[in-house]
Amino acid sequence: ATPMSVMVGVGKAAEYGALIRQGDALQTAGKIDLVILDKTGTITEGHPAVTRITAVDSNATLLALAAGLERHSEHPLAEAVLNRAREDGVEPETVTDFEALNGKGVQGQFDGQRVRLGNRRWLEAEGINVTNLDSAANTITEEAGTPLFLALGDQVQGVIGVADAIKPDSEAAIRRLHDAGIKVMMVTGDVDATARAIALKAGIDDYRAEVLPENKAEVVSEMRGKGYTVAMVGDGINDAPALAAADVGFAIGTGTDVAIESAAITLMRGSLHGVPDAIEISRATVTNIK
Ligand code: ADP
Ligand code: MG
Repeated sequence: ATPMSVMVGVGKAAEYGALIRQGDALQTAGKIDLVILDKTGTITEGHPAVTRITAVDSNATLLALAAGLERHSEHPLAEAVLNRAREDGVEPETVTDFEALNGKGVQGQFDGQRVRLGNRRWLEAEGINVTNLDSAANTITEEAGTPLFLALGDQVQGVIGVADAIKPDSEAAIRRLHDAGIKVMMVTGDVDATARAIALKAGIDDYRAEVLPENKAEVVSEMRGKGYTVAMVGDGINDAPALAAADVGFAIGTGTDVAIESAAITLMRGSLHGVPDAIEISRATVTNIK
């Protein structure tokens, strides 16, 4: 495209709330044939809430320990646990030696024991048996929630279900992408059953679950290797390498600074509609100068 038509296209995109930070992104956007979406904060609101608590002993004790850990975390899941503790008037326990483990969960020390809150795969890898909570966890995933297991020492204490609503316009934006002949895929660190429930609700045909944060970029590279022109859309610190690895990275404007810095385009309105908007503007811009 001529510099003039690119300027017009960039201006047009800005009117739609899509800020183009890298000039060539507008031209590349028209060629996108695969859009990879992060789940939390991208397809969903990113403000999950606790939906269920199933404790081996007491719900309040379980929540107090979970909140004691999550007080130190900045993950959206942490916000959900802390809000619930506040609502229920539960005082968080004092947990020391806090550590967040990407894609796994959080851990610390309490009462001379290791306390862990996170996903099943991680706890099982640490030798903790969680099968007595299977039916509670299945109910959570069927409702598109994420089960967080809490263990004290090697004993599981309960499971907390956290669910995040899909943004009201995600489904419509995904439909626009499909109508434009674009394949849509979701990548998430969440477990398969939760991912499947969200993908179904959002109208996505393909997803990858249990993708560790550092592996999101590999999924992008893999799909580029298959010949796709790939857009990656994300909001989190974890998404930054994948945004940088894509042909065009779209950061959700309400997301982290790291994501915004790694992406060519920032979606100021936080809506996924910005992706088909930018693609349509790009296609129109490039056609105009033929
Ligand atoms: P996503 O790709 O959905 O944004 P993440 O990679 O951030 O997810 O997290 C993947 C999984 O790791 C979560 O679904 C959860 O099971 C676990 N996890 C990560 N952070 C925390 C936390 N602060 N508390 C509990 N579990 C966590
Ligand atoms: Mg996210």
